[in-house]
Amino acid sequence: MAFTPHGKHLIAGDWVAGETTFKNDPVSGAAHDFSVGTPAHVDAACAAAEEAFWSYGNSSREDRAAFLNAIADEIEARGEAITEIGTAETGLPEARLQGERGRTTGQLRLFASHILKGDYLDRRHDEALPDRQPLPRPDIKMVQRPLGPVAVFGASNFPLAFSTAGGDTASALAAGCPVVVKGHSAHPGTAEIVAEAILAAIKSCGVHPGVFSLIQGGKRDVGQALVQHPLINAVGFTGSLGGGRALFDLCAQRENPIPFFGELGSVNPMFLLPQALGARGAEIAQGWSGSLTMGAGQFCTNPGISVVIDGPDADAFIEAATKALEPMGAQTMLTDGIASAYRAGRDRVAGTKGVQEVLTSVCDMRNATPYLFATTGDEWLENEALGEEVFGPLGLIVRVRDFDQMRDMALSLQGQLTCTIHMDDGDTTHAQALMPVLERKAGRILANGFPTGVEVCDAMVHGGPYPASTNFGATSVGTMAIRRFLRPVSYQNMPDALLPADLR
Ligand code: NAP
Repeated sequence: MAFTPHGKHLIAGDWVAGETTFKNDPVSGAAHDFSVGTPAHVDAACAAAEEAFWSYGNSSREDRAAFLNAIADEIEARGEAITEIGTAETGLPEARLQGERGRTTGQLRLFASHILKGDYLDRRHDEALPDRQPLPRPDIKMVQRPLGPVAVFGASNFPLAFSTAGGDTASALAAGCPVVVKGHSAHPGTAEIVAEAILAAIKSCGVHPGVFSLIQGGKRDVGQALVQHPLINAVGFTGSLGGGRALFDLCAQRENPIPFFGELGSVNPMFLLPQALGARGAEIAQGWSGSLTMGAGQFCTNPGISVVIDGPDADAFIEAATKALEPMGAQTMLTDGIASAYRAGRDRVAGTKGVQEVLTSVCDMRNATPYLFATTGDEWLENEALGEEVFGPLGLIVRVRDFDQMRDMALSLQGQLTCTIHMDDGDTTHAQALMPVLERKAGRILANGFPTGVEVCDAMVHGGPYPASTNFGATSVGTMAIRRFLRPVSYQNMPDALLPADLR
């Protein structure tokens, strides 16, 4: 079932074209024209979202759950066509797109069941104490209420699970917030077909059409207008540190500042403790190379840095990692821009004083092959830039002098999405000494694993101190993601008839 995009924006139930167009840049197949989004499109979508909020924000959890499930069904009904255009636009393999589709529909269904349970409402009740001295206590109830219309930016590296109907959209719709999506210009056709699925669900469920709009990109002013629009109450974003920071600053400078939930950069360091390194170094190197090169390294949880204590076991680890990475061929990257940013990142690391090239390879155009570098703990501590993310399959091994320097290195880290400890039983004392540092640095800490592959579940935290994210109290994956789009409201001495249905 081939899908030919018409290239329009979806605004409040209507497909709308603008005057100018941009072309997508598929890896295979014909390019298509897409309407360039404008601040006027943003304005129309936000006004419709605000109108929709009066009904959608007060809809029952049962109705919202049915809507989320219907979106999942409509995505599944277009499964093959979504995979076809998704692989063409992103260069990601078919199996990856199929898996990501399952993750996307799974997230929608998970949020449906999550809101039906109702725990997320965090309902509280302090009963009145009329006889309390010196003053009586009023009756106070509290419940979480949806914020209103929110903006979501599609991510380049997850065309489905972090884009049009991805985790940000699913959690916002579950909360009761209408969503205006700014599509990522790397995969506008994929965004269009998913928006078509959402529109079908809007129609079959009888939901107000302003509850969802998709505005294609093409120019930067559309994203800037969206985050500054007075009717937008919060923003969900996954992307670069530079882009995310620019949009975060715009949110903070508004007359009424709003939260910007940006998931930005991370190098996801792994700490290999001595016993594990000695006993299983080669095995860990093998696993690392798989995690580092998965999806051409285009994961925010890509473990870019391995820290080892210098010595023969470190030499053996470097040798095993080189051997494991050497045969990995070139993989297509998401966009030409991301591929050239990868090469620029490689040049930056290669040009840093004290960095040694362990594995070099040649890649050009939209391709990426793995690179492996090594440096010492002393050099790392002197070169802050080594801690910056290179988006792609680039690994850096840091040989520290001893465990104390490993801890110093952990202390020097910026905020991370993940940190990993590789340890055996004999490493427990060292691991215990690292934990208080890693807890301050990362949203998720792993033992004896690899951070790529983020489980969508209740206990997941996909966030972390800046620059991993711009709001480290939040997660963009898992059911806690709904909290970003809720606001607690207290009701004092309120007659039942005036309370929201969830409190009655
Ligand atoms: P990006 O450049 O940050 O773009 C993400 C979204 O923000 C796009 O919709 C983009 O619009 C918009 N945008 C960026 N800067 C903006 C600005 N100044 N004003 C208004 N809108 C702006 O990220 P990307 O395109 O996904 O990838 C580029 C780089 O981001 C990669 O090389 C990598 O370093 C990083 N990245 C990190 C992660 C992660 O999870 N940590 C994920 C993906 C990418 P356009 O569509 O118009 O460009």
